[in-house]
Amino acid sequence: MTRMPEPLPSGLTPTPPTRPWRPSPWLGAAAAVHVGALGACVASPALLPWALGSVAATDVVLAGAGLWPRSTLLGPNLRRLPASAGNVIALTFDDGPNPAVTPAVLDLLDAYGARATFFCVGETARRHPALLRQIVARGHAIENHTEHHWLHFSTFGPARIAREIADAQRVLTDLAGRTPRFFRAPAGLRNPLLEPALCRQGLRLASWTRRGFDTWRNADPDGVARRLLRGLAARDILLMHDGNPGSDREGKPMILTVLPRVLQAIEAAGLRHVTLQEAVPA
Ligand SMILES: [Zn+2]
Repeated sequence: MTRMPEPLPSGLTPTPPTRPWRPSPWLGAAAAVHVGALGACVASPALLPWALGSVAATDVVLAGAGLWPRSTLLGPNLRRLPASAGNVIALTFDDGPNPAVTPAVLDLLDAYGARATFFCVGETARRHPALLRQIVARGHAIENHTEHHWLHFSTFGPARIAREIADAQRVLTDLAGRTPRFFRAPAGLRNPLLEPALCRQGLRLASWTRRGFDTWRNADPDGVARRLLRGLAARDILLMHDGNPGSDREGKPMILTVLPRVLQAIEAAGLRHVTLQEAVPA
């Protein structure tokens, strides 16, 4: 079913400018293998097993790259802030806004004077527009985490990928009054068709430096904090979740147990909080 776009308030740009898509060297090599295999089969049918094996091996590598969230084999991927950012850190929160957790996260961030980046889900933002606006009003940035957060997003074809991105981009721009510049795939999983779609919509893929796996149930907060803070350094991008939060053994949302420790550690390290948009030149 085709969704009718909602009108934007006047003066808002629906998407940032597009940028040219340049296939990564790995994608170029994969295309060469496919073409070479086809040519070999045409030249000599006896080479068919070799050709099929080469193509299969290449496709396994590409699929593996898509299942590795921090991979750069399929295209650019922001895993760490650029050197120009300085002595800063970027906290990122995924899957919200969530009325049960996000307000407490905002209070914790306020207590430490911290600005953060929230990768929000379009349909969730539609359900909680006031909360999304509150995130912005309190100094944080909103970025694109798809319209529905399908966990099989990496199996989608080009049209459905584009629609998932565009629908979220439209509503997040409308509600936040600012256009997202970054995109994060659900669970970080993607396929080679994502980067061209992001280029057409003027977005950049962003993953993270470290994540705490804070969406697990009955998890150990010490382990989550340790994973997030191991080797804490300037220009890190840390991933946590205010939506779909895991819980500690007392049933408390994991992020509310762990975030104070993270904020204390960042303060002790003398790092300044920034959003991705502040740290990465347009
Ligand atoms: Zn997510």
